[in-house]
Formats: sequence, C-alpha cells, structure tokens
Amino acid sequence: MMNMSIHCDVTECKYHDKTEKYCTLNAISIQHEKNKDGTYKGEADCASYERE
Ligand code: SF4
Repeated sequence: MMNMSIHCDVTECKYHDKTEKYCTLNAISIQHEKNKDGTYKGEADCASYERE
C-alpha cells in the first residue's frame, strides 16, 4: 500500500508503488551523499532505496 506522505519518482526502487508516484514503506531514511574521501557533497539521498 502506498504511503501518501512520501512522494517519490524513483520507479527503479522495489519499494516504489509503480501505479502512483509514492513510496510503499511506512517510513524512510534520508542520508547525506558523501564523496570517496568521506566529505559531504551537499546533497541527500533516500537511504531506504533498493534496486528491484
Ligand atoms: S524507499 Fe526511497 S527511493 Fe524507494 S520508493 Fe521509497 S522513498 Fe522512493
């Protein structure tokens, strides 16, 4: 069941609803993107993402 509180366009994720642009998880984690040396890029990603 989709979570209407988490809008998402990442259709490649196994938790994406596919019929609507929402996530099916109850909650997600967001994390900083880091460079190879461990410094922050200044961007963030969904850490709950998993490729199908
Ligand atoms: S886990 Fe993250 S990337 Fe995957 S559908 Fe949910 S919000 Fe989108």
